[in-house]
Amino acid sequence: MEEGTRPRWHSAVDLASVCGFAALWLLVCARLGRVHDAATGSALALAALPLGYVLADGVSGVVHWAADRFFGPRTPILGPLLVRPFREHHHDPGAMAHHGFLEVSGNSCLVSIPLLGTLASLPVPASIGLAFLQAILLSLTIGVFGTNLFHKWAHTANVARPVAWLQRHGWILRPEHHAVHHGGDHDRAFCITTGWLNPLLDRWRFFWQLERLLGANATTR
Ligand SMILES: [Zn+2]
Ligand SMILES: [Zn+2]
Repeated sequence: MEEGTRPRWHSAVDLASVCGFAALWLLVCARLGRVHDAATGSALALAALPLGYVLADGVSGVVHWAADRFFGPRTPILGPLLVRPFREHHHDPGAMAHHGFLEVSGNSCLVSIPLLGTLASLPVPASIGLAFLQAILLSLTIGVFGTNLFHKWAHTANVARPVAWLQRHGWILRPEHHAVHHGGDHDRAFCITTGWLNPLLDRWRFFWQLERLLGANATTR
């Protein structure tokens, strides 16, 4: 949906979510920066960044799988908010390329706000371990923020050169990798931040096993 055709209140919620996300993220980041000296803080951030980023890829896979295979369009709350957009995306994958920044990023920011709000309300971490854990969660929110954008760019014909570079080097979701999900029955390659975990999870048949564990999938619900 083009930005201009969306209900104004929806765009306002998206804008508030993006602003709230940015404010809380900076607040938590500043609090973590006060925990230790600059060198220790930099080392913590460098170690936490890849862990949170990989975690975001895993979270994207679980959420995407739940929308595609577990919940149904008639599931209360999650049906209209989560399931229908993914199912509509399967019918018209290219439409996402025309979504504006707020539409793409609003929901990503909104789902991270409870976590960032919790981190912001906690006491400043008293130990390196706690600071490291919070830094991983902060990094996770970066990955969550990027997920919908990376997914959109994987469906965009002509992306900006920096984006193409990131895709080519696998730092964000590569279009040819994501095509595996759309090329079949939408039953594999669920991770859409970077897709790094897809080969492992698909080889282990992780989501198939999860479906067996939880009972049949809900794609027909
Ligand atoms: Zn897609
Ligand atoms: Zn899907």
